Amino acid sequence: MITTTDPRTGASAAIDIQESTAADVAAATAGAAGAAKFLATAGREFRAGLLERICTEIESARAQLVDAGLAETGLTEVRLNGELSRSIFQFGLFAQAIREGSYLEASIDHAGETPLGPQPDVRRMLIPIGPVAVFGASNFPFAFSVLGGDVASALAAGCPVVVKAHPSHPLVSRLSFEALQRAALALDAPEGTIGIVYGTEPGRLLVRDPAIRAVGFTGSLGAAKALTAEIAQRPDPIPFFGELSSINPLIVTAAAAEARTAEIATGIFGSYTGSAGQLCTKPGIVFVPATPAGDELTDEIVRQTQAAGAGVLLNSRIRSSFSDIQQRLEDAGGRLLARGVDDDGDGFSVAPVMLETTAEETSAELAEECFGPMLVVARYGDLDQVTAAISRIPASLTATVHAEQSEDETVGRLFTELEPYAGRLVYNGYPTGVRVSWGQHHGGPWPATNTQHTSVGVTAIRRWLRPLAWQGAPEAVLPPELRDDYGQIPRRIDGMLVLPS
Ligand code: NAP
Repeated sequence: MITTTDPRTGASAAIDIQESTAADVAAATAGAAGAAKFLATAGREFRAGLLERICTEIESARAQLVDAGLAETGLTEVRLNGELSRSIFQFGLFAQAIREGSYLEASIDHAGETPLGPQPDVRRMLIPIGPVAVFGASNFPFAFSVLGGDVASALAAGCPVVVKAHPSHPLVSRLSFEALQRAALALDAPEGTIGIVYGTEPGRLLVRDPAIRAVGFTGSLGAAKALTAEIAQRPDPIPFFGELSSINPLIVTAAAAEARTAEIATGIFGSYTGSAGQLCTKPGIVFVPATPAGDELTDEIVRQTQAAGAGVLLNSRIRSSFSDIQQRLEDAGGRLLARGVDDDGDGFSVAPVMLETTAEETSAELAEECFGPMLVVARYGDLDQVTAAISRIPASLTATVHAEQSEDETVGRLFTELEPYAGRLVYNGYPTGVRVSWGQHHGGPWPATNTQHTSVGVTAIRRWLRPLAWQGAPEAVLPPELRDDYGQIPRRIDGMLVLPS
């Protein structure tokens, strides 16, 4: 039975959504397989129109979506409205990107004489991979769920999508799905363009289904391992693009601690407690110098933490993990430095917690990700201790350095040391808040993600595309983008980049 739970009170209620049966999953994937050819060949302009219609449908359902989000996530109205705007922006950005067309990597090498003798005509571009399964995350009910970047980028690429609804927000998922369906219907897209299934076992069936050609996943390492084990049993294993777990180290140099003590303390506090710490980019460990200014900076985070009230966690699983992980961090040597003000409610709330260690004591165990408002402060004597510590802890989506203008050489050295361990290097900012843009990369070495790809930003579309080359093919059978006279997108022709005229 599918239930909805209000994390603010812990109260659950039955709803009129049933767990999907095997037949439901098969129908969704068959529908997606049926829609795949239409979507791939309908053209970029059709898909851009579909994405823009989705923006309209989401906007018109905003009030209902936000209301349902309030009741199922405990996130604030401001946060939910902002996140929904981000969803709309993402669909719009992918519409622009597919009109622009550089994502296709179209290349034409005409037949002719080469230093290696006569060579045939060869043309290459990226084509849709086929139906995609998307598993949304609990902490972004819109922007990483049914209305999220994986769905937007897959549809943009020309791939039908079957979403596995997250159990923490089934009503939001259904409302979101209905908005997508209305858009598809308005543009006469096939019914199977977008599908949805509910339940753990249906999720497993989905990734084993022969029609599914790739999986997009945002969630925990444990669930990712369970799903990749399912995929490994397929006769034809498919790509699994997982956004998983991240500790996001943040380093404050001695000069920065001295110059911006209160400002950085307030920034760190806001970044680790925002959205009750349930952001994959939350700084989980910060390296603070063992200097008087570093003491003052740490004391200021302690003061703000002790004065802070409890934040609502998304579900009971995340709430119980929070206490379990705090215990493990303490067992690994973390010393309790501060705790905020707990509330006595029945919901899944928790007060922020701050632990202390040293860079030299920092271990992989002390850098376990805790999804919630938990921070480990590691004090250091010199920056070599910090880079040594970072080489011992898991890689991340981000790594951040706070430094002064006179320290560019130090920052350059730190960035070089951090490069192998992160997908985004942040200077004098905070890793939370991920801009959706062409230049963004939201990924990182394992266990942050298991791929070279991003799940945020325009290049997220690359996950749902595969290259195909045509050799000696008549113009009439080529996709329009590879015909000689198609001048509407950037292409590489005989080795030269040619922009649209
Ligand atoms: P989750 O508990 O892993 O759930 C994700 C999805 O996997 C859900 O649909 C869940 O549905 C399914 N699932 C869980 N266990 C499964 C299993 N054994 N077999 C098949 N399906 C399974 O994650 P979450 O609660 O949404 O998010 C918390 C975690 O996500 C954190 O660790 C966080 O770091 C990570 N996260 C990462 C990013 C990123 O971009 N890297 C972003 C957000 C969150 P069922 O429960 O119905 O099975």
